[in-house]
Amino acid sequence: MNTPLVRPAEPIRLADYQPTPYAIRTVDLDFVLNPTATEVTADLRLERREGTPAGTALMLDGDDLELLAVEIDGARLKPDAFEASPAQLTILEPPAGPFTLRVVTRIAPESNTKLMGLYRSGGNYCTQCEAEGFRRITYFLDRPDVLAVYRTRIEARRAEAPYLLSNGNLVEAGEVPGTDRHFAVWHDPFPKPSYLFALVGGDFDVLRDSFTTRSGRAVKLEIYVEHGKAERAAYAMDSLKRSMRWDEEAFGLEYDLDVFMIVAVSDFNMGAMENKGLNIFNDKYVLARPDTATDTDFANIEGIIAHEYFHNWTGNRITCRNWFQLCLKEGLTVFRDQEFSSDQRSRAVKRISDVKLLKSHQFPEDAGPLAHPVRPEVYQEINNFYTATVYEKGAEVVRMLKTLLGPEGFRAGMDLYFARHDGDAATIEDFVACFAEANGHDLDDFMLWYSQSGTPELSVTSRWDEAAKTVTLVIEQSCPPTPGQPAKQPMVIPIRFGLVGPNGEDMAYEGIEGIEAAGDVMVATAARHEVTITGVGARPVASLLRGFSAPVRLTANLDTADHLFLLAHDPDSFNRWQSAQTLATRLLVDGTAALRAGRAMEIDPRFVEAYRTVAADDRLDHAFRALVLGLPGEADIAREIGSDVDPDMVFAARDRLKRAVAAGAADAFGALYRDLASTGPYSPDAASAGRRTLRNAALDYLAHAPDPDATGRVAAHYRAADNMTDRFAALATLVSLGAPEAEAALADFYARFEGDPLVIDKWFAVQAMAPLPSTLDRVKGLTRHPAFSFSNPNRLRSLVTTFATGNQTQFARADGAGFSFVADVVLDLDDKNPQVAARLLSAFRSWRALESRRRAHAEVELKRIAAKPGLSRDVSDIVGRCLQ
Ligand code: ZN
Repeated sequence: MNTPLVRPAEPIRLADYQPTPYAIRTVDLDFVLNPTATEVTADLRLERREGTPAGTALMLDGDDLELLAVEIDGARLKPDAFEASPAQLTILEPPAGPFTLRVVTRIAPESNTKLMGLYRSGGNYCTQCEAEGFRRITYFLDRPDVLAVYRTRIEARRAEAPYLLSNGNLVEAGEVPGTDRHFAVWHDPFPKPSYLFALVGGDFDVLRDSFTTRSGRAVKLEIYVEHGKAERAAYAMDSLKRSMRWDEEAFGLEYDLDVFMIVAVSDFNMGAMENKGLNIFNDKYVLARPDTATDTDFANIEGIIAHEYFHNWTGNRITCRNWFQLCLKEGLTVFRDQEFSSDQRSRAVKRISDVKLLKSHQFPEDAGPLAHPVRPEVYQEINNFYTATVYEKGAEVVRMLKTLLGPEGFRAGMDLYFARHDGDAATIEDFVACFAEANGHDLDDFMLWYSQSGTPELSVTSRWDEAAKTVTLVIEQSCPPTPGQPAKQPMVIPIRFGLVGPNGEDMAYEGIEGIEAAGDVMVATAARHEVTITGVGARPVASLLRGFSAPVRLTANLDTADHLFLLAHDPDSFNRWQSAQTLATRLLVDGTAALRAGRAMEIDPRFVEAYRTVAADDRLDHAFRALVLGLPGEADIAREIGSDVDPDMVFAARDRLKRAVAAGAADAFGALYRDLASTGPYSPDAASAGRRTLRNAALDYLAHAPDPDATGRVAAHYRAADNMTDRFAALATLVSLGAPEAEAALADFYARFEGDPLVIDKWFAVQAMAPLPSTLDRVKGLTRHPAFSFSNPNRLRSLVTTFATGNQTQFARADGAGFSFVADVVLDLDDKNPQVAARLLSAFRSWRALESRRRAHAEVELKRIAAKPGLSRDVSDIVGRCLQ
């Protein structure tokens, strides 16, 4: 336990940041594409930076490269003038003045299984360069603060690759005389870091459209997809146009090239990539048709198309000085895509969904061995920092700025940021300074949100003084210590609040003392505040942290009656949802403890009645009702319990509560199921999706009701479905219950969608999610299914990652077999695709919170992984931190 099993490599530290000794002004690339031997000629125009002594060696990054030639200003370098390895090229004594370095490398896209650099997907060529993939194409200063203007020539056999794409605008294209080859030349006028470089070569169908910016620039829009699938890109195209318009309206930001291209590929390590003018997407986030994609898929497409498009300003025009600043582009761009989706759909529903995601993914990360600040200060492998903390908590930090400064103050800060830093590789300090200056508002203390990891705990005790007509709030904050880090300081916590009066409306008050407050936002800055709110008409219920105004864990001295009151009346929809969650969580945490102690689980009938009321309340939005009726997930309950968790008991408690609600509100669910039947053709809009979500939630409850035909009705729903949302919802309920109808439905589903990989991913996933003891054997069997593949990340994730992250009871089986299976997959995958292997391994991150038997099994498996010789840096970083 105390001996480090993995010898950590030298970590990279923010404190060590230095600019490069040389700048690269222009990059001319020439690719001759070939599956096994692509030649890349790179002409780099270099300049010694001010302050660099003449003769300082130039060290360029490489990764798995074969060097064919090096020249400076047209002359071949003598062997003693440079040193080369697959991982580095050093020019020992470069010229003192500006010079051109030519580097010729040979790479093999066909055998590139890491899917970083230039690789093949579906017979096409594509690239992925963020974070450090460009160095797998040519030797380079492969870091985000080296900005250059790129010109890219691509040559390939026309039959093999009729489309040749790169960043920027097309400047030339034609045949290579006397050959079966053709070429294209692209020029990107905007200086960019190497991680934004992209190249695509291949054969596609193209969906074309156009957009006129508000200043009148005509932009061609092109989405490249696999043959026969152009029609499935229509929703992505529509989302793109809406994103472009929204960024003009919300932030005054216009697109800046003649063409914006999106290429959908089926082998991709993550969701999508914002390469300048040439976004490359996991096809899962482009392709959708009502019969193949769920409402969630449609919403994800809209959000991710917007996210990558918004990066054009927040990420590309203004990029990051170093990878420690990743949240500068990611947190901000997530905030922007959240706002976009809120404006396109329902703001309340979007906010609740985003907070659910934050709590289910980021909170556990922040509470475990992989915790890190929103802006990390040290890393071993940057790929492991594309995390919920950087993305989702990073977005919350931006949202808090808006809450603290108000919408106009926030916009003024953003405007200053774009005006001042366009063309820069910037830092978080640069960003926050714009908000401070534009508003005359000191944000020094706010910076702690970027440097202090862990979820702050906010405790609020409210007391009503009838005689004085005052409410006293004692507001305290603390943050769990991180081993090896200095004691945590109090943070700046914006608390949006209201005092809900007996009639269910917000009450007026005269004044607030003891804390800084503006409008309905109090700002806690100290470990403890004693706040007095004066001139309150009657005893209120305090509605705190409205809209989840800060990413903290709130505990308040509200009892069940107070929460039931807020659930019924709070003018803030978020807190109505939160009240239901808080009540359910209390029942489930207590229930888990009771079951574990061999006692009966007590279920407060008022809770069931409240759910029945919500289900039947036709004044409430469908999607909102579905969210309120959704019980906290098993992982959420486990997180609340915190330690010594037995996932089987958590599952049992949740199952009992679900059945109690199903039984107690069966009439309301039956009515919903009947009344919400579709009346017209499928449409992916938010209102229609909300109706389906609520109807399917009602159906799932009905399947848990004491009704002999409970699953028969679900099977009928499956057969009647005319869209994937309904079909998949029914399938998931049948399979997770192990219903007698499940096997026939699975067989039908496979037969219907056999040729459709994105749908077959769902077929694998639904089986991996089933909380049944037979699932592990089934999942193992499925790894040998002809349609399974370890090398396609979507397929691997659909089966194995779904099992490890979406199936608490079976991954963390008491016999350790679930852990052992996932560890085997991690070890197998490690050489092939370390980035995906490391992500899968992160599923172990909460292992220390488990009860002792399961914990011991997890530790054995983690140590087994750590002991493998030649482990990738990606996996060894995660396993090392998990065992720390
Ligand atoms: Zn992003």
